Amino acid sequence: MEILFYERLKTYFKDDYELAIKNLEGPLKTSFFINNKKGSNEDILSLIDFPYRVSDYNIHSYFYTYSGIGKTKAYELGLIYPQELSASLPALIPDVKDVKLVVDMAASPGGKSINILNRLSDDALLIANEIDYKRAQVLVSNLERLGFDNVIVTNKETSDLLNLEGQVDLVILDAPCSGEGMVKKYPEIISDYNIANINLCARRQSELLEVAYRLLKKDGHLLYSTCTYAFEEDENQIEDFVDKHQD
Ligand code: SAM
Repeated sequence: MEILFYERLKTYFKDDYELAIKNLEGPLKTSFFINNKKGSNEDILSLIDFPYRVSDYNIHSYFYTYSGIGKTKAYELGLIYPQELSASLPALIPDVKDVKLVVDMAASPGGKSINILNRLSDDALLIANEIDYKRAQVLVSNLERLGFDNVIVTNKETSDLLNLEGQVDLVILDAPCSGEGMVKKYPEIISDYNIANINLCARRQSELLEVAYRLLKKDGHLLYSTCTYAFEEDENQIEDFVDKHQD
């Protein structure tokens, strides 16, 4: 299984393969972002008493190495939310200016929802769905700590969301995936690695994408992201989807 993982990594990274391997060996780069509903970057940073450094890729994200972040005042008061920088990038993409209804189909622990809520106007509503009950409770706790009130958490099968068919301005599908990009956090992904799982994830994503499409109102937007490099779950998945749905 490990051999297959590294072979596929070569096909993803090509000339940058050695660099990718080197990055896998280093420590996980941890970052947090600022909850701008509670204050400006400047105000909140003035209350942070552990070392951090700004990232070049997302002006709201900051790298840190402090292991006790979950016990800091800034965390407990919901002024910051720890999220890896790469995971914070997709939610910066959609234009949310005229968005009134958002559905996050696979929301826990809440990083993408919180990223979007951070930019969403107060009269817009986000429905954050999580299929797994325990994970839905984590989602509730994170959203409460950060203090958003224009959000409803649901614990439903994604097909149950279809009572909102054709009504949603923005659908976020941060899909369950094979997690190739998560191996620093969960090294067992390498030993458990197999093609059957990638194909299973791809089939599930394709079903979820169909639900996402049906939820959208005309000219609505869909944000699709994964934590994996697998073509079956990313490029090929998107190509198939766009072939099916020319609009
Ligand atoms: N969006 C989250 C964030 O940014 O914090 C991370 C979501 S995680 C990548 C994918 C989520 O999909 C998990 O919480 C998992 O419980 C959920 N999930 C697993 N199987 C699912 C399914 N068949 N339908 C919908 N969601 C599913």
